[in-house]
Amino acid sequence: MVLGPSVDGFEKEFADYHGLRHCVGVDNGTNAVKLGLQALGVGPGDEVITVSNTAAPTVVAIDGAGATPVFVDVRADDYLMDTDQVAEAITPRTKALLPVHLYGQCVDMGPLRALAAEHGLVVLEDCAQAHGARHHGELAGTLGDAAAFSFYPTKVLGAYGDGGAVVTDDADVDRALRSLRYYGMEDVYYVVRTPGHNSRLDEVQAEILRRKLTRLDRYIEGRRAVARRYAEGLADLTGPGGLVLPSVREGNDHVYYVYVVRHPRRDEIIEALKSYGVFLNISYPWPVHTMTGFAHLGYAKGSLPVTERLADEIFSLPMYPALAPDVQDKVIAAVHEVLGAA
Ligand SMILES: *Cc1c(COP(=O)(O)O)cnc(C)c1O
Repeated sequence: MVLGPSVDGFEKEFADYHGLRHCVGVDNGTNAVKLGLQALGVGPGDEVITVSNTAAPTVVAIDGAGATPVFVDVRADDYLMDTDQVAEAITPRTKALLPVHLYGQCVDMGPLRALAAEHGLVVLEDCAQAHGARHHGELAGTLGDAAAFSFYPTKVLGAYGDGGAVVTDDADVDRALRSLRYYGMEDVYYVVRTPGHNSRLDEVQAEILRRKLTRLDRYIEGRRAVARRYAEGLADLTGPGGLVLPSVREGNDHVYYVYVVRHPRRDEIIEALKSYGVFLNISYPWPVHTMTGFAHLGYAKGSLPVTERLADEIFSLPMYPALAPDVQDKVIAAVHEVLGAA
């Protein structure tokens, strides 16, 4: 069955979790961003302001909606959108702001909402890494006009395959999304007015998500416990020129999708840790604006200096809710050995 009771049930439960009226399940997070933008009226000729320090799919989705990505730099402390740079990036073609709540904590939304109101822009949150994160007590996903989620298996709320959703309080956006994910049909009349996509959430994934949603807050607690253990275990390695641990902005409740640390000798450290059996990821080693596929946007090297420097210095320590304390302690010990010897 397609678009049956499991998708209906999940949509209702995920909307309720956020205290919002609508949720539309889609096939993945990239299409959640793309359809979310289209449902908000973004299309060819429009500019969407976002960051280059994000997962490439954020930007692929803007391109997929036919719009033009415009990048601002990130802040040097929390690596999130520098909202102070947004005003000067706004042009007559700007249609949307797309903050990415990267790594599991929220962008500073107050200034963005003020700019959106002043300039008549829509705000789509990319919540693919921020399920359950809070910003001054309010859930990620409730802070803009609509919000896109991914349920890729590794995410804070993950299915067993691909999945995504858009949440919103706006009935028109909900209606547009239901049509967009279903060929562009308005399902009562079986007529396409604007050609859409086939981007439906699968019933089996929806049923898995319903069960996992009841445990989301527990998963987040597990991630926070792992983060606390790293913060305690690695505190002695911080300080000038040393390891930089994640900085949580005031008012944010971080869900630690990834635990990103920073060190000027990142590559050496990652290489040395391999001999201790510790293999680390980088989120992300290549800023989107430096990728060949986005060269036509014309961002020269050096144009987003904080983003570019971070890409050379950040790396992610193992992070998942079930990470056993003794396994984590081995990682902490290995980091000490490597940084002590370095
Ligand atoms: C994972 C992710 C996406 C894309 O989600 P998929 O389900 O893999 O398509 C988009 N944006 C961000 C920030 C992500 O982390």
